[in-house]
Amino acid sequence: GADFNQKIDYVFKVVLIGDSAVGKSQLLARFARNEFSLESKATIGVEFQTKTLLIDHKTVKAQIWDTAGQERYRAVTSAYYRGAVGAMLVYDMTKRQSFDHMARWLEELRGHADKNIVIMLIGNKCDLGTLRAVPTEDAQEFAERENLYFMETSALGATNVESAFLTVLSEIYRLIS
Ligand code: GDP
Ligand code: MG
Repeated sequence: GADFNQKIDYVFKVVLIGDSAVGKSQLLARFARNEFSLESKATIGVEFQTKTLLIDHKTVKAQIWDTAGQERYRAVTSAYYRGAVGAMLVYDMTKRQSFDHMARWLEELRGHADKNIVIMLIGNKCDLGTLRAVPTEDAQEFAERENLYFMETSALGATNVESAFLTVLSEIYRLIS
């Protein structure tokens, strides 16, 4: 890959969490490989992908972890959260329930992760705007109250995906440098 023989200055672990089928795996596929699939298969076991990028002239390897069929409440193990410096809290903007579950995902995350973890709330599937079930303002309000970054994305349309990950990674960099 692009990082062959490259000196890595930092490795940042970022975890994806949220209900099943909100698009976590496709957001990762879009960010790491610029790919998207409509027939996303549920994978077994924990998986991560890496992407190496430059931030402020430093080589940063983003190690993005994806839950695989562990999205039931409290099924994600503490090993998944261990060492994470960033988190993407993902809901499907066409599924109100996936947004209503954000509070307990956040509680679980905060119970396991470092207190300085950088968290981005993501309303995915914004290409399906006509089916919207979560107003932007509701998510914005939740994000402000909980001190999270917030973006609406589409893994399908590649909207804001790069931007969401880069915002989190840059903020992590800013905090540690
Ligand atoms: P996960 O269970 O959270 O990992 O969700 P997946 O990434 O497997 O996606 C679940 C389903 O939603 C799949 O059929 C994807 O193709 C679809 N999907 C994911 N992201 C988007 C998106 O941005 N827009 C649309 N329309 N569909 C998406
Ligand atoms: Mg998945």
